[in-house]
Amino acid sequence: MQRTKNTTRHNSAPVRVVLLGSGYTSIHAYRSLVRRLRPRIGKDLHITLITRDTHHAFHGWTGDALAGYIPVEHTLTPLECIFPLAQRMQGMVEGVDLQHQQVQVKTESGIQQVPYDHLVIGLGSSDPFDRIQGLAEHGFCLKSIHELHRLRTHLIARLQAAQNTQDTSERERLLHFTLIGGGYAGVEIAAALRGFFEQQVTHHPILQTCVPRIELIHAHEELLPELLARYPRLQRYALQQLQDLHIQVIPGTRIQKVKAGCCVTSTGATLPAGMVIATAGISLGVLKGTEMLPRDERKRLRANDHMQVQGHGNLWTAGDIANIRRPFQQGPCPTNALWAIMGGMHAGDNLARAIQRKPLRPFWFPGLGQSASFGPGRAIAELCTLQFTGQVAFLMRLGFFLMFMPHLPYACLVLKDWLRLRQRLKPSTTLKTA
Ligand SMILES: Cc1cc2nc3c(=O)[nH]c(=O)nc-3n(C[C@H](O)[C@H](O)[C@H](O)COP(=O)(O)OP(=O)(O)OC[C@H]3O[C@@H](n4cnc5c(N)ncnc54)[C@H](O)[C@@H]3O)c2cc1C
Repeated sequence: MQRTKNTTRHNSAPVRVVLLGSGYTSIHAYRSLVRRLRPRIGKDLHITLITRDTHHAFHGWTGDALAGYIPVEHTLTPLECIFPLAQRMQGMVEGVDLQHQQVQVKTESGIQQVPYDHLVIGLGSSDPFDRIQGLAEHGFCLKSIHELHRLRTHLIARLQAAQNTQDTSERERLLHFTLIGGGYAGVEIAAALRGFFEQQVTHHPILQTCVPRIELIHAHEELLPELLARYPRLQRYALQQLQDLHIQVIPGTRIQKVKAGCCVTSTGATLPAGMVIATAGISLGVLKGTEMLPRDERKRLRANDHMQVQGHGNLWTAGDIANIRRPFQQGPCPTNALWAIMGGMHAGDNLARAIQRKPLRPFWFPGLGQSASFGPGRAIAELCTLQFTGQVAFLMRLGFFLMFMPHLPYACLVLKDWLRLRQRLKPSTTLKTA
């Protein structure tokens, strides 16, 4: 059953579109709406954005910002630059009343009810705090920008402490880093950590004599398993990079619990751990009032090819929170920024078509490629099944990321950072590696 009472609420009443979250899904849904319906916005079409954020964080640069290649602030774009024609409300979405078509938002001035005719659910995912016990207390994740800041501050404090202590075993403990998760984010963050130490050598001479120990724990037998079947050359290159960067890979080990100084695996074994950083996938919550919406086993909202939540013509979704059939292939669309961008774009297009009472179009995006960086000039990239490594792959990734940054002046800032870095970076001869 499709519920579409929204657009026919009252002939002269403006259509109210509410976007939840300010990630890639909402940005690109908004852009599609503006592209198709610009003259109507503010007249008979109102767009409201509800999000807890003031800025959009470009997650693709997380590793580069962690390493210090680009300032964390340059990965952030103020929302007023991205959503100029939307009314913005900052607050925490607490629930949705599907029957009365209202969103409950907790703002500084209390709980507010925001009515909608069409709702775009782009709330994304969260770090896996619920799947890995103790992670919130004893580890770091990188989804939020505050975490990234906290992590960098903590790393510097650790280096300082290692610099100051005379106790060798304490120094070893301080320079021990344990990463959980060997997907794209995991390998990038492991390499970025190495990059961070290279950037810090001059400030912390201890790094000229002591080797930071970085280990990467992975649940599967192979790192980057998604590459293995179709792109083994890229996987081999990635492994070689990690080896060159002296990152110790511990495969076939699933971490279930993090404690002070150790991790507990799914078999109950205890592994000594250093400072823990987790990039071990995502978790999803269920908003109050949406419990009855169809979901998959990972709690992702099941949507049809038009990007509508199954059975709900005025609920649109895409990105990490959604399970949408991948066009031309088996299984759902992957959970990454590219698919959130393309899904959000399509959701916005179809939403505009619904408002215009035009037929909706099925999602058709076949995929484009994937990439991971191991530091300046070292990357892997797959574009339409063609495989690239090294400098070429690095430049391709850079070009794509700049193109997908949500606001051109911020993309220019990041480009400048990279150009400056090229002059600043000399091959690191000082960081002790063995
Ligand atoms: C460290 C890291 C590195 C990554 N690197 C890459 C990469 O290199 N390439 C790539 O393709 N993908 C990468 N990803 C994945 C990519 O970031 C996600 O797939 C993408 O952000 C999903 O987009 P989305 O629109 O679904 O959600 P998001 O972009 O996460 O946006 C969700 C929005 O909803 C808001 N929100 C959530 N809950 C609430 C609430 N209750 N109330 C108010 N607001 C709320 C959030 O604050 C946010 O604004 C990375 C992810 C991480 C964490």
